[in-house]
Amino acid sequence: MHCPVCGGKATGKVGVDQYYCWDCCVEYRLNKEGVSIYEVAEDGSLVALDPHNEFLL
Ligand SMILES: [Zn+2]
Repeated sequence: MHCPVCGGKATGKVGVDQYYCWDCCVEYRLNKEGVSIYEVAEDGSLVALDPHNEFLL
């Protein structure tokens, strides 16, 4: 699974259809519409990025 943001391969699976990119430090989730990107806040919570930044598969 390549990162949809940077295209890199430094990704790891963190859950069902959930992946983390070590280069961008973002988590992304696969869904029917495409890929949703989340930033991980300092407190560990997930912050959805601007929907306009969603990448379609
Ligand atoms: Zn990345």
